[in-house]
Amino acid sequence: MKVYGRSCVFLARFSHTVSANCLPVDRLLKIDQKWKTETYSNHDLNNEGSKKQITKEKMYILSMFPYPSGSLHMGHVRVYTIADLLARFYRMKGYEVIHPIGWDAFGLPAENAALERQIKPEVWTSSNIVKMKQQLLAMNVQFDWQRSITTCSPTYYRWTQWLFLKLFKHKLAYQKYATVNWDPVDQTVLANEQVNSEGRSWRSGALVEKRTLNQWFLRITDYAHELNHDLDLLSGWPDQVRTMQRNWIGESHGYEVLFQLDDENGTQLPVFTTRPETLYGVSLIAVSKDHPLSIKERNTNCHFRDFLDKQAENAHDGYQLNVHARNPLTHTVVPVYYAPYVHNDYGTSAVMGVPQHNSADLLFWKQMGSPNSAIQVLVSENEGNETQIMSSNCGKHSFLNYKIAAKSVYEELSAKGLARKKTNYRLRDWLVSRQRYWGTPIPIIHCPNCGAVPVPEEQLPVTLPKLDKFSRDLSVFRNSKAYKEWCTTICPNCGSEAQREQDTLDTFVDSSWYFFRYLSPNEEGVPFQKQLAQKYMPVDIYLGGVEHSILHLLYARFFAKFMKTLGLWVDDEHRNEPFQRLVTQGMVHGKTYLHPKTNRYLKPDELVCKDGQIRLRDDLSLEPAISFEKMSKSKHNGVDPMGVLRTWGSDVVRAHILFSAPVDKVLNWDPNTAVGIKRWLLRVVQIAEQLQGSNTIEKVDVSQLSQTELSLLSELTSLVARAEDNYASRLGLNVLVSDLMKFTNLLTKCMKEDQVRPEVAHYALEILVRCMAPMTPCVSMECWELLRCPGSVFDAWPKMQLNIKKPFQERSIPVQINGKKRLELNVSSDAQMSEEQVIARLKDLKEAQKWMNGQTIEKVIIRPRIINIVLKR
Ligand SMILES: [Zn+2]
Repeated sequence: MKVYGRSCVFLARFSHTVSANCLPVDRLLKIDQKWKTETYSNHDLNNEGSKKQITKEKMYILSMFPYPSGSLHMGHVRVYTIADLLARFYRMKGYEVIHPIGWDAFGLPAENAALERQIKPEVWTSSNIVKMKQQLLAMNVQFDWQRSITTCSPTYYRWTQWLFLKLFKHKLAYQKYATVNWDPVDQTVLANEQVNSEGRSWRSGALVEKRTLNQWFLRITDYAHELNHDLDLLSGWPDQVRTMQRNWIGESHGYEVLFQLDDENGTQLPVFTTRPETLYGVSLIAVSKDHPLSIKERNTNCHFRDFLDKQAENAHDGYQLNVHARNPLTHTVVPVYYAPYVHNDYGTSAVMGVPQHNSADLLFWKQMGSPNSAIQVLVSENEGNETQIMSSNCGKHSFLNYKIAAKSVYEELSAKGLARKKTNYRLRDWLVSRQRYWGTPIPIIHCPNCGAVPVPEEQLPVTLPKLDKFSRDLSVFRNSKAYKEWCTTICPNCGSEAQREQDTLDTFVDSSWYFFRYLSPNEEGVPFQKQLAQKYMPVDIYLGGVEHSILHLLYARFFAKFMKTLGLWVDDEHRNEPFQRLVTQGMVHGKTYLHPKTNRYLKPDELVCKDGQIRLRDDLSLEPAISFEKMSKSKHNGVDPMGVLRTWGSDVVRAHILFSAPVDKVLNWDPNTAVGIKRWLLRVVQIAEQLQGSNTIEKVDVSQLSQTELSLLSELTSLVARAEDNYASRLGLNVLVSDLMKFTNLLTKCMKEDQVRPEVAHYALEILVRCMAPMTPCVSMECWELLRCPGSVFDAWPKMQLNIKKPFQERSIPVQINGKKRLELNVSSDAQMSEEQVIARLKDLKEAQKWMNGQTIEKVIIRPRIINIVLKR
């Protein structure tokens, strides 16, 4: 009875509960200012706080590093909020957390922006970095600033160059002539994806030219097999991303079959196929433009040269070469064509044309005037049956199932040495040459005597030439005196005058290994210390946008595997996979207003708010149509994170972002709905203020608790477990915010109704704010102070002192309605329910109402393991 005796004291305290709305608006902003980390710390955050017990376990949390464009966008706010709360959570759990940040600072946008503003790219880049650091601090994200790296700094790109030289030494970097998309305005090579359907550059809009240049490639195809098969190990990655990678690598298993040419030497021509049984239907052989047969023809036949010169970009017609090939299975002789649809890098760059069974082959065969008869090889087993069997045209293989025939054809040819199994990949070698200034210089010297010679390691870094003036026109830039001086050097091999490589590296090379450098950011003798890589790699959680799911992740995996080749990081357990868990956060869409009649995007100044309704300024009778779309200038729906942070404070913004959508889904950013979050946080602060001066319970003694207190603390126990699960494994952060809000409501209700003693409420609030601390650090720290709790709210993740059982054990019991199982009811396991209780419970359940559909209950039959409901007919 102690409980009720004491209750009179705090009844008075709780009776004057202030509504959250009445609190001063800037209360949260003040808390935000008070507790936010104002400067970036340069010390190890793991050692902060005296009480913290660091376990031996490490947790490497990595977010994709930003490009220093000068301003953060809402997508950054989202990803860094998630990364920050994970880092804070794992630190509370006692892990040694690595949570670095850096700058992906080379690249074309910096160069173009610098040109437009007439300042050097390095000046523009470093001023942007300063701005963006301030913005990250405004978000209250705690990074290990002392680990920070910048890819355009010579202390970093020295090691990018060093790794390039290692690739060169291992014959994984090589030069090759390649036809590329050339942007004459930006003076650089463009990837196919950067050329639009009209053949114009996505950036400059210029008509793209084809040029043949000697370019540097990385032989990523040597790792294709590993890169494909090790995807199986990455169970912590979204399936969708693994599928995208698999498709990009495009492993296919097939056969190389040897045809014999009718030239003077009887040369054998290897042809790749995945379907050897279709050898019965080959009408022609098609080879690519760079196939040796095409090259030979080009050198001997001026008509073919003419044909190629005049051939339009996307033409489909081929050219019959002066050679024939004999089919190794049927011994039929077929013509050989140059065909534009055969890719230079695919298989052997020679394919069999089987017009009856391949639409591309059929099209080409018709285009060439149907030079011979097309033979049907496969037929359906019988009408309406999908199973394919060999037709009557297939000699001894006729009428066999096609799979059996394929095996038999292969075995027959392989026994004669005319076929072998071959794995083919869609993945191509990685073209890394960029004809730009603002990138890592490729550390190669071209000597007239020795060819391409690597710059000696001790001469690294090859720093970028310092230029007074810098022109968009690369030829002007490269003709400058300073540039020429930079270019001219001595061959390290023979001492002759030689020229430096002028191309710089694709920025994807810089970002392929940065997560290793974070571990030894100031290391001078090696790119990173092996023992640190052995300790902290692989990255435990990698967060970033799904748009990097293919190229960046593939290149980073390639580099991580190459580290094993170098012996710099060896992790056989994870097969040198660098990222154990991948979290791809969804995009942030902005609220977009459209004209209701014309669907034109409306600018903010075209709208007014009248009687709480948004209207068109020009015609107040019209309401705009509202949608959520990808943020862009043309849609006038961009959101400035700094404005949002100033209005709401970082805690509200963080919690609102987490609450608005599951991590991997699109988030529709609507600041108006942040009001709910604000009210919740204010209520938490308000409870802490009310409990100021009260004590906490040192130890939970179940025998001393009232039924309500027991129920509250049991709810709290399960809240802590769910919160831990949602932070650590599930990442159900929207659910977590809603759980925390619900508990706050429960606590408020118990206190209002005078059902808990202050010390129990105090204890519950302590635990609640510790659960909240990773996502809303400022409010949690403020409450911690108000409650006069010792140490820091971040010192430890809450452990419930006692394993509090629920006041009653629940079990679920199936409910049948008119003989069909429709739902389950949670009932107390030790009490028998009465008919009235069952009916009352069903009335509260939407699901039950759906099945009963307004009909009255005729009969309720309660058995220990089932409840039967009979409805009136
Ligand atoms: Zn030389």
